[in-house]
Amino acid sequence: MSTAGQVIRCKAAVAWESGKPLSIEEVEVAPPQKDEVRIKILFTSLCHTDVYFWDAKGQNPLFPRILGHEAGGIVESVGEGVTDLKPGDHVLPIFTGECKECPHCLSEESNMCDLLRINTDRVGMINDGKSRFSINGKPIYHFLGTSTFSEYTVVHVGQVAKINPHAPLDKVCVLSCGMSTGFGATVNVAKPKKGQSVAIFGLGAVGLAAAEGARVSGASRIIGIDLNPSRFEQANKFGVTDFVNPKDYNKPVQEVIVEMTGGGVDRSVECTGSIQAMISAFECVHDGWGVAVLVGVPNKDDAFKTHPVNLLNEKTLKGTFFGNYKPRSDIPAVVEKYMNKELELDKFITHTVPFSEINKAFELMLAGEGLRCVIRMDT
Ligand code: NAD
Ligand code: ZN
Repeated sequence: MSTAGQVIRCKAAVAWESGKPLSIEEVEVAPPQKDEVRIKILFTSLCHTDVYFWDAKGQNPLFPRILGHEAGGIVESVGEGVTDLKPGDHVLPIFTGECKECPHCLSEESNMCDLLRINTDRVGMINDGKSRFSINGKPIYHFLGTSTFSEYTVVHVGQVAKINPHAPLDKVCVLSCGMSTGFGATVNVAKPKKGQSVAIFGLGAVGLAAAEGARVSGASRIIGIDLNPSRFEQANKFGVTDFVNPKDYNKPVQEVIVEMTGGGVDRSVECTGSIQAMISAFECVHDGWGVAVLVGVPNKDDAFKTHPVNLLNEKTLKGTFFGNYKPRSDIPAVVEKYMNKELELDKFITHTVPFSEINKAFELMLAGEGLRCVIRMDT
């Protein structure tokens, strides 16, 4: 029997307050409205961005909230005006959108859609500002317009990438944020030339996807920087050639890298969220041509401080959301790269847990263990 047009009661993991384990609750999910799609989530994974907004130490605390933004699922029903998606389509919800009409969407350079760009403080749908989730009539907030820690979620059509139905959703779900972000940050934004050196700050899943981008670009040297020494063993398998732990030196890590490389790296990609690492990532690039790309999500009060002469010396500082990919136009082709074995994803998925054990995924990330933990919704 079709559930279209009806309220669906299903399980969701609700964050009631900052830093407290999520609790699995029965929630009501309203039908999708104009330009919205209701998706049955099959697999979701945990990205560090979820953890920042869950512990809310450096971010606005907005609760109760259904977190989650890296996922794969199947369209259950569509709202008024939705023509390019239909029930049964396999999709990845994406935290930043593409309306296809604004100056950003029409620009080849930008993925910062005017209507649907990432907004971490938005707690309702764009249409009416209201939530589609409730428990006994009390609204539960959305997160990034995706809220994938729920068996069903409602997403704006501009934040949904329709993908090859043969792609395994338990693998390609990680392209919905982390892997596309890291890989794209290198290949679309840092753009290392063959034979150049690349420094990657932070060797979690996003950083190692950035390293993968450096490897396929033909980088001669990939220097991985992390404070957690257990990251180095794993990073070896991702083509990282040199390792630096800032804790092993009594001088700033940028100085160590400049010395190691005889003047600085050609490119650097920061995937930590630490303001200190962001500054180091910029200051360690070579003058004259070096490019640094920031990817990590900073705390809300962070400020980037460097001497302007670094810029005068022709070092370039950039930043990117979602690796500069346009979610609807570009992600289906990235999924095809995986299908054609041009991009590896399986090695990023180090853990899998049933939905009932979603808090384990948080524990693993807080302990710095593993890369991506995929959460299976059907169990
Ligand atoms: P993760 O926790 O798996 O990995 C982060 C790594 O950075 C860890 O290994 C940690 O030890 C290391 N680290 C922390 N501080 C460091 C420092 N000062 N110097 C060196 N290493 C340090 O996280 P992840 O899921 O891979 O995400 C990485 C970052 O990317 C997060 O900040 C996340 O919010 C951000 N992110 C950004 C986007 C975007 O579109 N810009 C998308 C996804 C994730
Ligand atoms: Zn993410």
